[in-house]
Amino acid sequence: MIRVNGSSSVVHATLRLCGLILLFSAAIVAQVPSPKSVLGFYPTDDKTIADWRQIHDYFTKLDKASNKVAVREIGKTTNGKPLIVAFISSADNIKNLDKYRQISAKLADPRAIRDEKELNDLVKNGKTIASIACSIHSTEIVASQMSMNLAYDLVTATDAETKEILENTILLLLPSSNPDGVDIVADWYRKTLGTKSEGTSPPELYHHYAGHDNNRDWFMLNLVETQAITKLFWKEWFPQLVYDVHQQGATASRFIIPPFFDPPNPRVNPSILREVGLIGYKMAADLQAKNVEGVATNSTYDTWWHGGFRSAPYYHNSIGILSEAASANLMSPVTIRREQLAGNRNTRGLSNLLEIATNYPDTWEGGVWRPADIAQIEMTASRSLLQMGAKFRERYLRNFYERGRENLSPKTGEPQAFIIPAGQPNAETVSRFLEILMAQGMEVFEMKQELYLKMEPAQRDFHEMPLGSFLVFVNQPQKNNVLSLFEKQVYPSRLLPNGDAEAPYDVAGWTLPMQMGVEAEAIYQIRNFETDRATLKKVENINQVRSVVNLSPVNTAFAKKPNPLKTNPKIGLYKGAGGSMDEGWTRLVLETFQIPFRSVSNEDMRSGNLDLDAIILPADSENTIVNGLSAERYPTEFAGGIGTAGVDNLKKFVENGGKLICFDDSCEMVMKRFSLPLRNVLAGVRRNEFYNPGSVVKLDVDTKDPLAKGLRPETAAYFSSSSAFDIAADARVKIIAKYAAKDALLSGWMLGEKLLNGKTALAEVTVGKGKIVLFAFRPQHRGQSWGTFPFIFNALEK
Ligand SMILES: [Zn+2]
Repeated sequence: MIRVNGSSSVVHATLRLCGLILLFSAAIVAQVPSPKSVLGFYPTDDKTIADWRQIHDYFTKLDKASNKVAVREIGKTTNGKPLIVAFISSADNIKNLDKYRQISAKLADPRAIRDEKELNDLVKNGKTIASIACSIHSTEIVASQMSMNLAYDLVTATDAETKEILENTILLLLPSSNPDGVDIVADWYRKTLGTKSEGTSPPELYHHYAGHDNNRDWFMLNLVETQAITKLFWKEWFPQLVYDVHQQGATASRFIIPPFFDPPNPRVNPSILREVGLIGYKMAADLQAKNVEGVATNSTYDTWWHGGFRSAPYYHNSIGILSEAASANLMSPVTIRREQLAGNRNTRGLSNLLEIATNYPDTWEGGVWRPADIAQIEMTASRSLLQMGAKFRERYLRNFYERGRENLSPKTGEPQAFIIPAGQPNAETVSRFLEILMAQGMEVFEMKQELYLKMEPAQRDFHEMPLGSFLVFVNQPQKNNVLSLFEKQVYPSRLLPNGDAEAPYDVAGWTLPMQMGVEAEAIYQIRNFETDRATLKKVENINQVRSVVNLSPVNTAFAKKPNPLKTNPKIGLYKGAGGSMDEGWTRLVLETFQIPFRSVSNEDMRSGNLDLDAIILPADSENTIVNGLSAERYPTEFAGGIGTAGVDNLKKFVENGGKLICFDDSCEMVMKRFSLPLRNVLAGVRRNEFYNPGSVVKLDVDTKDPLAKGLRPETAAYFSSSSAFDIAADARVKIIAKYAAKDALLSGWMLGEKLLNGKTALAEVTVGKGKIVLFAFRPQHRGQSWGTFPFIFNALEK
């Protein structure tokens, strides 16, 4: 038991005076431990940091002490730590959690509701399910620390507003969506406190595979954390409100909240955009009432892209909120000068941080900026969200239901379903693709007999499709998720006044079947829909899919795949000291396919410890690879890159018969330092001439080449501000794939396509006894582009 401010003597007094009942209620309040009483410091104070063990410990104690809290482990993290959610609500609601979960789940699927009366009962009796998720980006550390204060505050406050929140909402608080990263940051911060490195980012990825890209995984589900939270949200609890708490750069506005910037994605229900804006304005108004300066709306972040924590909810009919507070240096305060704010002029929708605007009515003029400042803003915003959820409970529940119901009715021009035809050669990929859809709660059906289908709206005859194909109907509650993953994206052309392309917040196109190399076609009509529907069998689990595509059953979700290599090469994957996301994603792909490899460090490169058959250089700049981290800010053990010694050793490695495989940016260093007869035609090209921030593009592939074994003559590849090669006539160079000579854009946005048409996308150069394989793009983009993984496997073969 923990003593708080001598309150146990109060408890004893109560015992003697008032008997058992009063003792209980008094004891419950008195025993709820404050974060300070458990940690020994007040979280979010300057230069304090709680690691995951401490945060976990605090929430465990809170669970024990308060009947308003229930903490559940929802899975293990990549590094094996407990991933937890804290349910916070009134004691009565916490007692009946499963009842409220079921109400929310029913409202998520209007087909499960019999009639108007049942609907009215559900709306009347349900609670708003709201989730607040902290510090998925672990260097944006303050929210994870703030989460303990928020929880304590909600559990112990006795005012009417808190009572209303607890009675009407059930909060699913994720103290961190990436606990591994909390520890990586906490360890680094403690180790470097008081040194030249205090407040720097740790010199490693703060998610084992993805680093910062861990918030790029919400439709692909490569990471166990994304899988666990997706299950919690879209298979179990169906939160109507999802708030993801982030931080931005230190010299930006103090806080950014919705409404968001343009463009919106046309697949986001307009009512969601309005509701997102409403909550953002509530937050903004509440912050203004507290005289918080420097709060921006309608800027920077758009709602185009699908794969973020707060954007995935839009495709489940829910309201996703993102906030971005200006950062300190991890938990150390910073001083921001007025001139630094004046210099920050590149923000979309926010041209001058020192001038008021309708979306930024109160400027912040600079000064000391502390973790506690961030925490207070985030606490206020969290409360605003919960107040909305409480006050408009019935409205949120009914609107959530209505959006799902709207999705069940066909709209003119939309397909009826998508078919994944039987007989595709890449059965493992097809199986993973369907597993990803089902893990998000999408319904998939197996065709038990052939069907007659129209593949074009105006087609006259029906086309026979074989049994063993799979169907995904469009008219299911998460219709927009279906459409947004299957359709090609057409990003609007957005140019700045100077003619430069305006960057979207993230990528412009992501069509999943294209990225994965899975054949999928839109179906506009099924011939005898009513009778044929009875022949379809709903897919209940992944082994049902696997039995249809003739694969052996698996025991786990997202199981690893068999090693596709025929030979047994000794593989090295370069891993610099700074933490490269592209390295992490490459590692994930190799491990997913159980391909043995070892990491090659800067020291290995410098000392020539390269007894390997093949080395992969993930996409990084020449400067990052050769020079690495700066010794001015990082301890010597982490500073520096492969250096010129490493470059020389790499050359020797190739000349002596090794194979060097370069992805995208890393080609630059190798082409230059090895004097190869290739050049990137897109290097230095301005944004008004060429721009492609992330789209699916078409490659023409020489399928006779061993590097292209198993690929199709036309293959979709992922291009994300990538490269395109011009090659001087040279007998040493072999071209394996080119960007299509025309119509290369398959999904997304590309300005100035002609600069890329017909240029080389994949080449192999013979150097001495060895070979260099140069990918102009990233064939393993965020672990999503399964369609181009075979290029990597082929390149790795001996
Ligand atoms: Zn972030």
